[in-house]
Amino acid sequence: MGHTCGTGTCSTGEEDSECSSCSSDAPVDADALFDEQVQATKGRMKHIKHKIAVMSGKGGVGKTTVTVNLAKALANKGHRVGILDADVTAPNVAKMMGVENPELYSTPAGLFPPEKDGIKVISMAFLAPQDEAIIWRGPVIMGVIEQFLTDIVWGELDYILIDLPPGTGDEALSIMQLLPEMDGIITVTTPQEVAVLDTRRSVDMAKIMRVPIIGIIENMSGFVCPHCGEITYIFKRGGGERAAEELKVPLLGRIPIDQAVAEASDSGEPFITSGEGATKEAFDKMVENIEKVINSLA
Ligand code: ADP
Repeated sequence: MGHTCGTGTCSTGEEDSECSSCSSDAPVDADALFDEQVQATKGRMKHIKHKIAVMSGKGGVGKTTVTVNLAKALANKGHRVGILDADVTAPNVAKMMGVENPELYSTPAGLFPPEKDGIKVISMAFLAPQDEAIIWRGPVIMGVIEQFLTDIVWGELDYILIDLPPGTGDEALSIMQLLPEMDGIITVTTPQEVAVLDTRRSVDMAKIMRVPIIGIIENMSGFVCPHCGEITYIFKRGGGERAAEELKVPLLGRIPIDQAVAEASDSGEPFITSGEGATKEAFDKMVENIEKVINSLA
């Protein structure tokens, strides 16, 4: 992949100090550079029908879990699917999809994303050692996101799911700015008040950036006892519903807490591959609702 310099997007592979564009004294036209980046993203992604970003107000609510299960469910329905892991400093998609240390094919046309069970995946996890901290400032992270959007050879896809890091930071801003024609965002929350408050921030950001909101998913929305079937609402009850009502966006699903979901994530096979029972039904309902909303937005 190339790098972003002050005068345009270089693809020379040279270090900044060696690149003739970077060492140029020409003044930077920020608007023109931004337009160029948007056009480059548009060109690269023009064969992808639906582009969806998955957000959450805070970490640990199951955003990546939802992303990989949604991807798998869509692929099972015969859709061509890709996942762009935009969580540059904590990339977990590769682990949850079971694509670790894949062989990468970089060509002059761009980088080909590795594929698992028909799902194409690109993640920082493929490009940096997994057991070392990635400590980068915002502009570097934004540069990586821009390259993920412009340098990956996705080919024709029905869906690309973009797994954003928690919050409303640089990555979310870059994606929303560079991909203005995306279908919208899905935000994942847990039912308690603090998580729901964070959801409002994600929804608010999407509104400010004029990105459609596909809806809210309430994850970990109750624990079904595997022995007696009794439901315990560990993180309270109904937060997702309240947020959906208040923010006037669809509630796309409520996924229970299920040990099998956590085990599946750890083993690199999304739960939906072999999961069953109430949790599987909840995921299926969620996917059905998402498709309905997307088709209604089209
Ligand atoms: P986030 O992307 O929001 O940081 P993750 O998807 O990484 O969250 O999930 C955090 C942890 O919670 C993971 O270990 C995952 O397996 C587990 N988890 C997520 N959703 C569920 C669920 N519905 N039931 C049980 N465990 C879950």
